[in-house]
Amino acid sequence: MADIIQLLPDHVANQIAAGEVVQRPASVVKELMENAIDAGAGEIKLVLKDAGKTLIQVIDNGVGMSPTDARLSFERHATSKIKTAEDLFNLHTKGFRGEALASIAAIAHVELKTKIESAEIGSRIVVEGSEVVTQEAVVAVKGTTISVKNLFYNIPARRNFLKSNPVETRHIIDEFHRVALAHPAISFQMIHNGGDVFNLPESNLRQRIVHILGSKTNEKLVPVSEETDIVKVKGFVLKPEFAKKSRGEQFFFVNDRFIKSSYLHHAVASAFDGLIRTEHHPGYFLYLEVDPHSIDINIHPTKTEVKFEDEHAIYAMLRSTVKHSLGQFNVAPILDFEKDAGFDTPYDYSKRSAVMPTIEVDRNYNPFHSERKQADNQFSFKRERQSSWESLYVGLKDEDNREISLDSFAVEGEEMTGSLFEKGNDTQGKVTFQIQNKYIVTSIKSGLMVVHQSLAHQRVLYEGFLRSITVQEGVSQQLLFPITLHFSKPKVVLLKNIVEQLERTGFVFTAIDEEQIEIGGVPGGLSEADVAGIFEQLISDFESDIPNAGFSQNDLLAKSLAKSMAIKSGVSLEPEAQEHLIHQLFACKEPSVSPDNRPILITLDVTDFDKKFM
Ligand code: ADP
Ligand code: MG
Repeated sequence: MADIIQLLPDHVANQIAAGEVVQRPASVVKELMENAIDAGAGEIKLVLKDAGKTLIQVIDNGVGMSPTDARLSFERHATSKIKTAEDLFNLHTKGFRGEALASIAAIAHVELKTKIESAEIGSRIVVEGSEVVTQEAVVAVKGTTISVKNLFYNIPARRNFLKSNPVETRHIIDEFHRVALAHPAISFQMIHNGGDVFNLPESNLRQRIVHILGSKTNEKLVPVSEETDIVKVKGFVLKPEFAKKSRGEQFFFVNDRFIKSSYLHHAVASAFDGLIRTEHHPGYFLYLEVDPHSIDINIHPTKTEVKFEDEHAIYAMLRSTVKHSLGQFNVAPILDFEKDAGFDTPYDYSKRSAVMPTIEVDRNYNPFHSERKQADNQFSFKRERQSSWESLYVGLKDEDNREISLDSFAVEGEEMTGSLFEKGNDTQGKVTFQIQNKYIVTSIKSGLMVVHQSLAHQRVLYEGFLRSITVQEGVSQQLLFPITLHFSKPKVVLLKNIVEQLERTGFVFTAIDEEQIEIGGVPGGLSEADVAGIFEQLISDFESDIPNAGFSQNDLLAKSLAKSMAIKSGVSLEPEAQEHLIHQLFACKEPSVSPDNRPILITLDVTDFDKKFM
């Protein structure tokens, strides 16, 4: 047989490498911004169009490149950052693999303009699909501008797999945050479709965090600082009471490089043990400095994972340092190592003493304990004929009640249609009971029905919200004192997109500023204490899965609200509330599956019991 192995042409090899390095526009943003940092830039500007799908441009005022270097920079394994294998273990730069530009140029239209300080004139290079189409001398200022257009233009499969613009933008913002948080001394700007998204001046660490996450963050930060032989740690953790249900604000940096580490996360999380509620996650911005010889960064193409020589020691140290800081914070809340007079003072005690009138909030409030009337008018459909729980026992055979859709029950047997519930005179004595405050059990004609209370309530709320968003506005309950919630700018922008739908569910917004929203009314039956959590969850749901518009957006909104507001497992319900829930469930269009397609109920046939007694 003839020899069949051949070397891949460069442009193919580059495309393959691109598959590892460039997953989406955000990966390009990361690589280009890191190159600008390695070039010693003091100002970095990121310009985007259409979530980076049309244009990603990074402009820096770093050292620039000579004409020869400019041309070489697009070759694979071309790097100015390391020379020998040993250098890999003494890294002081973000890049070192020499792959990014070659990879990006293989799958996009790239234009590079650059000039070094000492040169009179700069160079411009245009590369398309690994091919240099233009190289010329141009007038330029010191520094480098790289424009990446039409990402994945030659790989339709990749292009088609890109998510909606809001989702891709979210990924870009995440990368932007990571880079900007790692380098507070560099000023960053981000412009998207002509509008300013971030404008971060040169600052200290605390200011940088606050500029990114919003001014209210300032008072949430607890400083962390420790130095040992193997590692230096500095940064901040968020006070335990600001722990969130979403994992948004968790940042580790090792030698100024953002990394992911579930191991180190565990160390920090365990320092918060007992201080935060279950299902909540601590927030942190922790900067580790270690000897470059003691880590390996080259274990992943995107360099977001690091292997430490002394992992266990770092774990223990991190845990105790964070614990210590939290403890110190408890006794000395104004401890602040990095106070900066030029910045608005974080701890304004004069303001603190002016206590706002408190609002009595009944945290145990359960909508089912209140009058049925109130619950009915907001969540259930006003289909009177079907709305009586008792009718489920007696009436299903009647022509009148055929609308109740029970065909989705997986109940075997000839009596399936029309007679799921027991018929008879005993409806008054019908009992429901709870198992472990999680399931509601009731008898039906063929045996037993077990209903998952939380999922059932999710279904009820979900259909109610969908209805109020799309057909008939929900009932609003005015708050005595408006609630103010603080978010970062992009989060407020996100909320603005769904304000109309939220208002239809019953929320009333009295003010929406850049970094805060003021809520004057909430959907009827909603406890005030839950509002903040609901908005956290809503934002995080929308961030991770932003549908473009229309129905799916309403759907996601209804789902998110329903999930946060539904009664949870573990809540004890009065018998009347149990019945009422089941009654509402069966007034739903689809009583058998939750908004997330989980089964809500199961039925157990008497014949199943019979078998057990044989
Ligand atoms: P790496 O960063 O791993 O070295 P890249 O493909 O990202 O590989 O870049 C290749 C080389 O191009 C870099 O080593 C650097 O010398 C040069 N370069 C890239 N971007 C810039 C920039 N913004 N300013 C100056 N030089 C740059
Ligand atoms: Mg690089």
